[in-house]
Amino acid sequence: MEKANVKDLPALKGKYVFIRADLNVPQDKEDKITDDTRIRASLGTVKHCIGEGARVILCSHLGRPETKGDLKYSLKPVAERIAELLPDVVVKMADDCIGGQVEALKDEMKDGEILVLENIRYYKEETKNDPEFAKKLAKLADYYVNDAFGAAHRAHASTEGIAKHLPAVSGFLMEKEIDFLGGAIANPKRPLTVIIGGKKVADKMPVIDNLLQLADTIIIGGGMTYSFIKAQGGNVGNSIVDDTKLDYCKGVIANAKERGVRIVFSKDTIAADEFSPDAKTKVVDVHKIPDGWEGLDLGPQTIDNIKDAIKDSGTIIWCGPLGVFEFEKFATGTREVAKAIVNTNAITIVGGGDSASAVTNMGLADKFTHISTGGGASLELLEGKVLPGVAALYNKKDKIK
Ligand code: AMP
Repeated sequence: MEKANVKDLPALKGKYVFIRADLNVPQDKEDKITDDTRIRASLGTVKHCIGEGARVILCSHLGRPETKGDLKYSLKPVAERIAELLPDVVVKMADDCIGGQVEALKDEMKDGEILVLENIRYYKEETKNDPEFAKKLAKLADYYVNDAFGAAHRAHASTEGIAKHLPAVSGFLMEKEIDFLGGAIANPKRPLTVIIGGKKVADKMPVIDNLLQLADTIIIGGGMTYSFIKAQGGNVGNSIVDDTKLDYCKGVIANAKERGVRIVFSKDTIAADEFSPDAKTKVVDVHKIPDGWEGLDLGPQTIDNIKDAIKDSGTIIWCGPLGVFEFEKFATGTREVAKAIVNTNAITIVGGGDSASAVTNMGLADKFTHISTGGGASLELLEGKVLPGVAALYNKKDKIK
């Protein structure tokens, strides 16, 4: 169901708009922000609202504070950075998220101003989705905008509870995630090719299970390769294997066959004599990895096979690195496949987490159709789950008053 977005809200002049953003930025020991990408990304929705004359109440979590008021987790440095990025806008910071001081600051606001609330996770009521707390947050505004896709898989007070009390719509970032990531599985341009990497079979099982029902081709790469190869009777040497999931792997292969889904495994691998950036390496058959050696990257034949398997795709969803890309020596498979993906005419989507940072580091980020920003939220969407933070939003056809 198509969700309403911030442009569907009635005239915003003089209205209070509560924006739940993801301003959870990394900081160094002196609380200096080391990467403000999330702040910059969130400004699109904020600028739209203040441009329309709204009074923006901006809310986010930062880290996982144990105690209320732990300054290490204060959003003050974030508010300061927003003020630097928007020099013509009045940006104020509250010491709390609810209560008298917040309400007083709110009452003083003029059109086009921003009030940043303190870390919402200072309150345990946030993660407990406490209805009274959600009601207090809702009292601060006329409309609710959720732009924090990365938190949408959690039913928290600021992501779900508040939406019960206000007209609730998506911000631009959230809308993009719903359109591209959600759209790619709800209504993909075919053929749909899914590339699954990473090392934890257990983590990706629900994604594999869901995508087996939707995809035309599934390519298995990265560390999970070796559980599948071992399940088929191969010798994988010291490669990473989850021995508790071998039956599961056999089941996936049988299931794919039954459904007519093409499943592509590695043929060769770059085997290393130790897990180290300077290990000795050799290219070996993935079914015949010598004892004492471990597969840490895709072999050249496998890279060619993957290029061939993806070239006529309508949509490619990629989730999980295809080798130990943190070591340059084993980043080739991930890089070559990333380059091959962006050279297709397909809609190309990176499912978040490690593969998103890999393509960003490789300078390929802007060549993909969409790179999902939500780690857990992206995976849950690919698993076919309904995200509570998305479900709580108004549908496009709902009347917004
Ligand atoms: P995951 O958290 O399951 O998505 O796994 C991501 C991690 O998988 C990255 O840190 C990669 O270094 C690792 N990885 C990818 N390929 C391999 C491999 N062949 N052997 C061991 N680890 C791998």
